[in-house]
Amino acid sequence: MPLREEPHPATPAGPLLAVRDLRVRFRGITALDGVSFDVARGEIAGLIGPNGAGKTTLFNCLSRLYEYSEGSIAFEGRPLEKLPRHRMAALGIGRTFQNLALFASMSVLDNIKVGLHARTHKGFLAHALRLPGVAGEERECNRRAGELVRFLGLEAVAQQRVAELPFGTRKRVELGRALASRPALLLLDEPAAGLNHEEVGALGSLIRAIRDQFQLTVLLVEHHMGLVMSVSDHVVALSFGRKIAEGTPAEVQRSPELIQAYLGAEA
Ligand code: ATP
Repeated sequence: MPLREEPHPATPAGPLLAVRDLRVRFRGITALDGVSFDVARGEIAGLIGPNGAGKTTLFNCLSRLYEYSEGSIAFEGRPLEKLPRHRMAALGIGRTFQNLALFASMSVLDNIKVGLHARTHKGFLAHALRLPGVAGEERECNRRAGELVRFLGLEAVAQQRVAELPFGTRKRVELGRALASRPALLLLDEPAAGLNHEEVGALGSLIRAIRDQFQLTVLLVEHHMGLVMSVSDHVVALSFGRKIAEGTPAEVQRSPELIQAYLGAEA
């Protein structure tokens, strides 16, 4: 299925994402304390760590929801801190949220189209108002939205309001919305949370299929160790805002610092 006809422009050498010495403080709490790591093009990278480790803070820095006081993030070799938040989707960074960020009263198809408009020239409002010159773009949007609906197995619910759908299905709609903006980097924030055992199994295959089909890079925050270790090429582990381990899933699982961090968190 030709879901990604155009390759992403400008693919300089080096990692897709380079996080360097990132520091974030909230009134006395150091949420990130000098974190550095790279995410290579085309890999599935997992970000793990006990509660409060700083994973969401890092994601929020990557989507420019939080400012960082020190350090840098480079995406495609360009520093993120100089770019406004609303440019993230156009730049090629898409994300999903722990608590879903969908328009509940809109249909599945329309939610996916909102994501598509992040990349159209005329924008969602021009399309909604049917301003001149939108017809061609509208046809292209409909075609791409249809492809995404089929890819995610959402055909039967495409016209249904999101509010009427089970949680697992809504999560797939959110994936569709994020994919619609054709990200080079897809940030998945706890995609397994709230899913049952079977759904988590299907999610692992879906994440791999998304990476392959859309030729993108995935960074995944996840507490479900089974999922993150089976799907990731590369894992970064945080604890109390610091990187405590990094490597292949097998390497990270053997890390005494990681074992200690989780045992400590349990205690
Ligand atoms: P979880 O797995 O529970 O989601 P996490 O690894 O995502 O945890 P963060 O949510 O990034 O961890 O939190 C890291 C630290 O920063 C915690 O001590 C948290 O209380 C604090 N923190 C995060 N966001 C804020 C905020 N907006 N204001 C104040 N403190 C914050």
